[in-house]
Amino acid sequence: MTPPATTKHAEVLIVGAGPAGLAAAGAAAKAGAQVTVLDDNAGAGGQIWRGDVSGRVPARDGARDRMLEEFRESNATLLSGRRVIDAPGPRTLRAFIEEMGSIESFTWERLILATGARERLLPFPGWTLPGVFGAGGLQALVKGGYSVAGKRVAVAGSGPLLLAVAAHLEQYGAMVVTVAEQAGLRSIVPFAARLWSHPKKLLQAVRYRAELHEVGYRTGCWPVAAEGEEKLTAVRLTDGKAVWSEPCDLLACGFHLVPNTELALMLGCELSDGCVAVDRRQRTSLEDVYCAGEPAGIAGLDAALVQGRIAGLEAANRGEEAKALYKRRDREREFGKGLDRAFAPREELRFLARAETIVCRCEDVRYGQLQDRQSWTDAKVQTRCGMGPCQGRICGPTVETLFGWRNISVRPPLFPVPVSALIDCARESSSKIA
Ligand SMILES: Cc1cc2nc3c(=O)[nH]c(=O)nc-3n(C[C@H](O)[C@H](O)[C@H](O)COP(=O)(O)OP(=O)(O)OC[C@H]3O[C@@H](n4cnc5c(N)ncnc54)[C@H](O)[C@@H]3O)c2cc1C
Repeated sequence: MTPPATTKHAEVLIVGAGPAGLAAAGAAAKAGAQVTVLDDNAGAGGQIWRGDVSGRVPARDGARDRMLEEFRESNATLLSGRRVIDAPGPRTLRAFIEEMGSIESFTWERLILATGARERLLPFPGWTLPGVFGAGGLQALVKGGYSVAGKRVAVAGSGPLLLAVAAHLEQYGAMVVTVAEQAGLRSIVPFAARLWSHPKKLLQAVRYRAELHEVGYRTGCWPVAAEGEEKLTAVRLTDGKAVWSEPCDLLACGFHLVPNTELALMLGCELSDGCVAVDRRQRTSLEDVYCAGEPAGIAGLDAALVQGRIAGLEAANRGEEAKALYKRRDREREFGKGLDRAFAPREELRFLARAETIVCRCEDVRYGQLQDRQSWTDAKVQTRCGMGPCQGRICGPTVETLFGWRNISVRPPLFPVPVSALIDCARESSSKIA
């Protein structure tokens, strides 16, 4: 039987135990605040430091080890396996605990949103074939035990994540046959030139290239189709002049990242340019709600860490100390803007889908059904695009890239939840009222 819903209180509640959330928790707890962190994964680390169940000893990573150590030594409490699904009242969040099948409520005095980002997926003929994965999605599956040993993998799309994923897959025994970056040299060179002022990132890029020295890295090259009958056998690539097929068993394909802003939107935080709007103190437009890391703009690990620290100190009423970090944060934010410019999707990617190509996978909505729609709402009402279990999380950013419609309506629950858990939760709430 599902246990009854419960309510817990946190002085500082943090959603997300990725680098931003951990940095915020460490800083706030060290400053004396009572901190609780909720995350839907099984452990701390977020996307980049996701736990690896393969038994392989992970490579040394100073930033990760320091951060996890600091977090362990702090008094912050991590509640894993909690997925925040709703904000039912003032200063209250609800989280679904998958393992228990129940819902837990949390009240907070200060809230930090550190919900990270996800990949942007764009449709092209064949992209729903078995064997085609999101690039970061495949990386996560491999960390979860999926074997790519001996498999030919093509990596395509856009952004620095492609190199990270390709290097990671090679370490796990895959044969990466190509890395195809849609951005052209003209956008990448100015970005790469500025890496001199970020030596750590430059070193990482050089390391990835060294690890992938036998793999071709093509810029200005993008997928136009995934080929195969029952499953993927090759990816068709183009550089805008020629089109050729690259035989492969798996295609890892993602077009940079999009911020996870749904919870912020549900709470009523203002957005700016698709990201949660924050001021110098990482404050959102809502009182006592802060945001750190990728929801405030895609800018990488260092940005997530420094923003997290600022938000944590602010939430623990140590704003004066946070001022020393502003300069570093601003530099990382500039880096993020450079990323957005360098890896912006090229116009051609908007026209890869054919009429029969599926755009919304949850509801099987095809490109041809969307072409004559006027807006996201019109598309939803007429086709059910974005109304399936992912609630537009995947097809929302896709549709925005293809048609320019932005999905800003968010409804609870943010993620699918069994009806039994919702009923138990409602019972608990009504018994309190009675
Ligand atoms: C799929 C993927 C793979 C990546 N791999 C790499 C890599 O290999 N190398 C690299 O340099 N960068 C990688 N990145 C980029 C990296 O994640 C960022 O640079 C940075 O580390 C982000 O930190 P963050 O704390 O802002 O977000 P994340 O690390 O994304 O942490 C956010 C956390 O919040 C949790 N969360 C979100 N919503 C909820 C909710 N409603 N309830 C509960 N928990 C929630 C998420 O599950 C996650 O654990 C990857 C990004 C993605 C999307």
